[in-house]
Amino acid sequence: MFKKSIVFITLICSLSACQKPVEYAQFYIFGTLVDITLADVDKVEAQQILAQVQQDLQQMHNDWHPWEPGMLVDINRAFAEGRCAPLDQKLKELIVASQTLEKQTGGSFNAGIGGLVSLWGFHTSDYPIHTPPPSTAAIDKWLQFQPSTQSVYFQGDSVCSSNPATQLDFGGIAKGYAVDLIVDKLKAAGVGAAIVNTGGDLRAYSQVERQYWHIAVRHPQQGLIGLIEITADDAVFTSGNYQRYVEHQGQRYAHILDPRTGRPVSDIVSVTVLASSGLQADAAATALMVAGLKGWHELSKSLQLEAVLVVDEAGKLYMTPAMDARLALYEPDEDEIAEVETNTEKTAKVGWEIEIVK
Ligand code: ADP
Ligand code: MG
Repeated sequence: MFKKSIVFITLICSLSACQKPVEYAQFYIFGTLVDITLADVDKVEAQQILAQVQQDLQQMHNDWHPWEPGMLVDINRAFAEGRCAPLDQKLKELIVASQTLEKQTGGSFNAGIGGLVSLWGFHTSDYPIHTPPPSTAAIDKWLQFQPSTQSVYFQGDSVCSSNPATQLDFGGIAKGYAVDLIVDKLKAAGVGAAIVNTGGDLRAYSQVERQYWHIAVRHPQQGLIGLIEITADDAVFTSGNYQRYVEHQGQRYAHILDPRTGRPVSDIVSVTVLASSGLQADAAATALMVAGLKGWHELSKSLQLEAVLVVDEAGKLYMTPAMDARLALYEPDEDEIAEVETNTEKTAKVGWEIEIVK
């Protein structure tokens, strides 16, 4: 339903690569279409692997869902009531990773903001959302409690929070972590090359010589920006304010919230991060949205991110030199340029305004 408009993918097999057929499965998990593409794998084996992957992802969806009954909802209820609640190893790792990321991003990424996400009406699968924004008083009250993953601690196989207002929400990181877990499994099962694509946020790898993937990066407003070639193993994640938002009285409120103001972020339309892990790319893309046009570059440096692409409201592109090196800009030939007006799906706008930010 919410297929990201910025990324679509193609497998490129050069010369004699791809002798074995490519196997493919699609299912609806994490509120989005998940596509798994396996290459260099036996057909029968692939079907078993894909069935297992679907089961694993469904389990993660159930365990980490912020409002449907499950492990995370039980934990959040326990926090609010000053109790501890049981958790499993995966969820523990997700919490620990979120705590580290909150520190590293100076609080731009804060997975303890479930209460605020709910206040803004985003705990629903019912789009479009037209609920009115929360009152200033309600936001101020939430801010007063300073919810944070730093209040979360573990006691044996249980998790507790010293702050009852901390409510965990992994919307900004769950897909990244899930993709990493699945890629680990695929590699362990001997799958030579794969793409795990959760609605345009993906990780792709190839351990097969002369076989690689092309990830097409599209502009959130129009056209194809270019292609990223993945020959080894990379995650490409995009956060944007153009797909999930509350619309009330003509005003749009993005689903990425600044934990320090309690309000939606506004001046960046999308951030795409290329990194070695899904977890890092997913969380970083969300955090850079929060850092905004003024802060994204400094934060990307302190997070040691290399390849970042930012699109502002005017459609201008900002790229780090590493993204510039990885992204082959799409340059339409003259015939295609003539088509620009009629075929926005395939053709790029000619002459994007691009700034390389060192
Ligand atoms: P997308 O859903 O488009 O992939 P993100 O990865 O940025 O976008 O995730 C957005 C989700 O992350 C929100 O719906 C919410 O659940 C959560 N979230 C919003 N703001 C923050 C934040 N500042 N820190 C951590 N998580 C956030
Ligand atoms: Mg994210």
